[in-house]
Amino acid sequence: MTETVDVIGGGLAGCEAALQISRRGIAVNLFECKPGIKSPAHVSDSLCELVCSNSLKSNDVTSACGLLKEELRALKSAVIECADACAIPSGGALAVDREKFSAAVTNAIESYKNITVRRGLVTDFDPGKITVIATGPLTVGLLNDKIAELTGGLLHFYDAAAPIVSAESIDTDFAFAADRYGKGGGEGDYLNCPLSEDEYVRFVEELTAAERVILRDFEGADVFEGCMPVEVMAARGRDTLRFGPLKPVGLTDPKTGKRPYAVVQLRKENAEGTMYNLVGFQTNLKFGEQRRVFSMIPALKNAEFLRFGVMHRNSFIDAPKALNADFSLKKFPNVFIAGQLSGVEGYAESIAAGLAAGINAARRTKGGQAVVFPPQSMLGALSRYLAAPNPNFQPMSANFGLLPPLDANIRDKREKKRLYGVRALQFVCIEAQNIV
Ligand SMILES: Cc1cc2nc3c(=O)[nH]c(=O)nc-3n(C[C@H](O)[C@H](O)[C@H](O)COP(=O)(O)OP(=O)(O)OC[C@H]3O[C@@H](n4cnc5c(N)ncnc54)[C@H](O)[C@@H]3O)c2cc1C
Repeated sequence: MTETVDVIGGGLAGCEAALQISRRGIAVNLFECKPGIKSPAHVSDSLCELVCSNSLKSNDVTSACGLLKEELRALKSAVIECADACAIPSGGALAVDREKFSAAVTNAIESYKNITVRRGLVTDFDPGKITVIATGPLTVGLLNDKIAELTGGLLHFYDAAAPIVSAESIDTDFAFAADRYGKGGGEGDYLNCPLSEDEYVRFVEELTAAERVILRDFEGADVFEGCMPVEVMAARGRDTLRFGPLKPVGLTDPKTGKRPYAVVQLRKENAEGTMYNLVGFQTNLKFGEQRRVFSMIPALKNAEFLRFGVMHRNSFIDAPKALNADFSLKKFPNVFIAGQLSGVEGYAESIAAGLAAGINAARRTKGGQAVVFPPQSMLGALSRYLAAPNPNFQPMSANFGLLPPLDANIRDKREKKRLYGVRALQFVCIEAQNIV
């Protein structure tokens, strides 16, 4: 009889890994500590919970994350399949109804007879048994010590989540629906809240002066650039937000026929459109301060906050020291680390790491050779980056800088990215046919 594989953690990576292993005819024990115990960012009892934004970023293959998702589709990612099935209009991005998405993945897991979901906290495991660890950046309890022991120590950084407001509380007299550069094709999936120069300047002043949560703990801490709290970004300079999450480019206010001075974008949280999140507003402000300062945005003056933003410490392994490019540990090759814990950053990246770790755990169980995806693919480039020597390792998102250069010297940036995508997908499609 073939060995059963243990997958610890029923998040994005763990669910993908479990489904990949199970599809290959191998029984899986999927361990998940919810609902009994939850990390500070997890709130739902379902598997595969999105802890913050409901967007898996762009679907455009000329963007790095769009390309990664297209590769995952070619490799038959079960979690991306569920995300596509639960997509809500989002102007060219893959945003999902978070509850439907979690339910779809949970149903997929439950529909496989060879996956047993075991609810309860895992504190220890046998590194000799084929195991995928996918407990995420907020791994709960003593398991952190075990992972640190096997990998030579855990590293960490800080990131933050954005608040959510109820749709009915948004004052639409001060907001307009539109996608940047009309990208979505329809009437507009985003609600845009314009700010005049005066409003913007006052907002930035209040934002930078507002009270933060346990400030001392985060002072001088490593904050991940992609999840920088909005107040930290604002403190970098008066115009930083106007060139960042509040940029007005590609948007015209129908009231004035002009581009606003600054724009706060709101994105639907669910298919019904009853909740909206403040795009790019990850924050570590005290809850009362979030209500006070964010209500200075004219469209949000009466906003009802359904969830406030929060900030968390994220753990990850020192991948270059501990991990092989097939996501197994150098010292304990039967142990695979998947998801954000492996040193990737982002939802799609975590799913990708789950897929690769799952495929490789299954191959190891059957005595097959490990698969490391081609360096020309985003998934291959990302996994090779994790394992490459790097004394100052920090978590990595999909990006074109990871890919080897094209043979021809292409000047047009968009065309270059398009060609990177064509090449990557050619390699991935060949790989997809060969992987069993
Ligand atoms: C606060 C926060 C906000 C983020 N926001 C975004 C974002 O907006 N966009 C983005 O792309 N990325 C975001 N990330 C980064 C990353 O994409 C997510 O953390 C993603 O959920 C990682 O997927 P994962 O499968 O590795 O871990 P998770 O999705 O966290 O899954 C881990 C699972 O393991 C379970 N678990 C933990 N410890 C144990 C244990 N000891 N025993 C049993 N089960 C356990 C957990 O309950 C959870 O279900 C965010 C991260 C954090 C912490």
